Amino acid sequence: MPQNGRSADQDLALIPGGRLAKEAAANWLALRAEGGKRLGIWIAPLGSRSSYRTFAEQQHFWNLFQAGKGNSAARPGTSNHGWGNAVDLADPPSMRRVIDRLGAPYGWHWGEAPVPTTSRSRGSSTTMTTIRATRTRRRSPSKTTTSREEGRWPESRH
Ligand SMILES: [Zn+2]
Repeated sequence: MPQNGRSADQDLALIPGGRLAKEAAANWLALRAEGGKRLGIWIAPLGSRSSYRTFAEQQHFWNLFQAGKGNSAARPGTSNHGWGNAVDLADPPSMRRVIDRLGAPYGWHWGEAPVPTTSRSRGSSTTMTTIRATRTRRRSPSKTTTSREEGRWPESRH
C-alpha cells in the first residue's frame, strides 16, 4: 500500500517539469500533446514541487502556511500532490483552457483551493498560485480528517 508522499521511484513517471504517479503521468502527457496540437497551449507545472511532492516537501509548504507565510497547503500525508495526481499550473489563465476543454477524458479536472482572505503572502515573492488541476481518482475509504488550524475553510488537498 503506497503512502502519501512516499512513492517508490518505480511508481512515478517523469513529465516535463516534474513527476506524477504512472497512470496520471500517462494521461497528463496525452492531454499535454492534445492541448499543444489543438489549442497551441502546452500545460506544465509551475515548479519542480508543483506535481508529485514528497512528504518532506509537503511539510515545508504546510509549515509556511501555518506560519501565515504561504498559501493554503494540505496537512502532510493528505495532499493530492503526495499521491502524484495533482499539478499546480505554471500559467493558470491560459492552461486552464486545456484542462476545461480537453481534460475530462484523461481524468483531469480543474480545482481551485480556497484562498484565506487574511493571507499575508499576497504580492510577496513567495506567493504561489492557488489555482490547480487535480486528477480525479477512485478513492479507497479513508479517514476523514478535520483541521482546527484551517478552521473556516474547507481543508485543502493541495
Ligand atoms: Zn496544488
